[in-house]
Amino acid sequence: MRRATVVLHAFHCSPFMVVFIAGMLVLLAFGVEAGVQDLRLQFAADALAGRTIVVDAGHGGIDPGAAGHGVVEREVVLAVAQDLRQLLARAGARVIMTRTGREAPSGKPFRQRRDLAHRAQLANAAGADVLVSIHANYFSHPGQQGAQVFVNRAALPQSRRLAELIQQAFREVTGSRRQVVTGADIFLLKKARMPAVTVEIGFLSHPAEARDLLDPAYQNKLAWGVFLGLARYFAEGAAPG
Ligand SMILES: [Zn+2]
Repeated sequence: MRRATVVLHAFHCSPFMVVFIAGMLVLLAFGVEAGVQDLRLQFAADALAGRTIVVDAGHGGIDPGAAGHGVVEREVVLAVAQDLRQLLARAGARVIMTRTGREAPSGKPFRQRRDLAHRAQLANAAGADVLVSIHANYFSHPGQQGAQVFVNRAALPQSRRLAELIQQAFREVTGSRRQVVTGADIFLLKKARMPAVTVEIGFLSHPAEARDLLDPAYQNKLAWGVFLGLARYFAEGAAPG
């Protein structure tokens, strides 16, 4: 009874103190939560160290890829690929770019099949752990939007898992509501002898999304989504071989 009175008294006397302590508790709770997330991300990023990752910016050279609303696939996929390279390199991964400039990797004269075979050959010769091919989509209906990951019908289970993790990260980072396409028949993915996915970063046929795809901040978000998917993929997998 006496103690209760004292507590009540203290409570009455210093409402500021109560607010202060409550505030500290809230800050502490958020701080710890953020710290745990940082640790998880750090752990995931650590899993990328020493991995060989092929980042393939689609098209290039005389092949512009798709175009819509003044946005050209060849250009925007390269921008996202460059951002992704930076993120991966910072995490200690060995990154192989199939192209770093406007030109297609196989040079001239340009044959699409030969160019794609050349990209797969780069990845196979490097003994890469994964290949991520970056493209942008175009559809006759302008309402379609959102970043989306594709794997072939006969894809390795690891390719499917990687695709799911990147799609999930796109959901978190860009709000894309699309699902992984598992029935694709993509020549480059067939030729690659490691887990491989194609990432379609968005629809050039969608006016607002085409505009977003030109925005460096949005390009970075997309790169971040792929990075997060890759980090989680390696974090849940085996040690580097
Ligand atoms: Zn393409």
